[in-house]
Amino acid sequence: MYEIPNLQSSDSKPSAIAVLTSGGDSPGMNPAIRGVVRAALHQGIKVYGVNKGYSGLIIGDMAEMDSASVTNIVQRGGTLLKSDRCLAFKDPAVRYQAAEVLKEKGIEGLVVIGGDGSLTGAHLLTQENDIKVIGLPGTIDNDIYGTDDTIGFDTAVNTALDAIDKIRDTALSHENLFLVEVMGRNSGFIATHVGIACGAEMIIAPEYEIQAESICFQLANNRLQGKGSSGIIVVAEGPKPGLTTHLAKQLNQHQLDPKVCILGHIQRGGSPSGHDRVLASCLGASAVDYLCAGFNDVMIGVRNGKITETPLQQIIEKNKKLDNRLFERAQLLHK
Ligand code: ADP
Repeated sequence: MYEIPNLQSSDSKPSAIAVLTSGGDSPGMNPAIRGVVRAALHQGIKVYGVNKGYSGLIIGDMAEMDSASVTNIVQRGGTLLKSDRCLAFKDPAVRYQAAEVLKEKGIEGLVVIGGDGSLTGAHLLTQENDIKVIGLPGTIDNDIYGTDDTIGFDTAVNTALDAIDKIRDTALSHENLFLVEVMGRNSGFIATHVGIACGAEMIIAPEYEIQAESICFQLANNRLQGKGSSGIIVVAEGPKPGLTTHLAKQLNQHQLDPKVCILGHIQRGGSPSGHDRVLASCLGASAVDYLCAGFNDVMIGVRNGKITETPLQQIIEKNKKLDNRLFERAQLLHK
């Protein structure tokens, strides 16, 4: 349940807005798009859907949406509008071109659903041009400052759990140790939540460096205490590919012979969870409220159960930190 702010429409309510999804897709982008479209139509605002993120925006690849355009998408993973990585958008001249495209169509506001890269692009677009932007946190990683939760995180955690519960059956039957790699280049949010929820023997997160020797020591200790001879270690992928395979090789040298399972892109796909559908729908509709109330250059997220805005500048400058105590609690639970 979210507390939704009671915002009043200002004189600067836009007559037309656009919405796009950018960067890595996440389950829940569709209900977020639906939220934007339905709330805009309710306010009598024209709404355009931009295809393929900033790549589509700079060439004007967009179409007006109506209520039927977003029928039957709330349960679908991925993004109806498609997503893209558009390096050209880092060039101010290209952002100017994008703003001109929007102005030509009479579009005064843009809702950008994506991760921190996409939100950086949105911030620069509005700083340099007379276009209002509202960002929504669309990423499975949950690593965005200004919001307790991002669109797609809950689904990704549940998808990983589904897989790990199955892996555990094999681990138990064969008394195997498994290293299961989950997503998270710079942050261990997915790994920590998945680790707690699947009862992992250990969690490896980029925030906390750990040597192979101390992993072996801990595992040996667990075995001595009669804690079974099978196990699951959840490993966040980390900044460079190959971390988990490298770790497996190191553990092999200590005769632990772990199996490696890399969950990879299955974590991005699939039908959004109930939690993500509600979060995305509320944030999508709220983005329109904030535009109508005259807000600009902010991301709408959730803090302490309340839908709230944070300046995009802060989102870019500040890092959301994994809660130390949550990580410690996770370690304690499987001791
Ligand atoms: P995410 O939004 O998931 O973090 P990326 O970091 O790949 O994904 O960013 C998505 C897109 O956002 C990029 O392809 C680019 O179009 C835009 N973007 C990212 N960083 C910047 C930047 N510094 N300046 C302008 N646009 C950016």
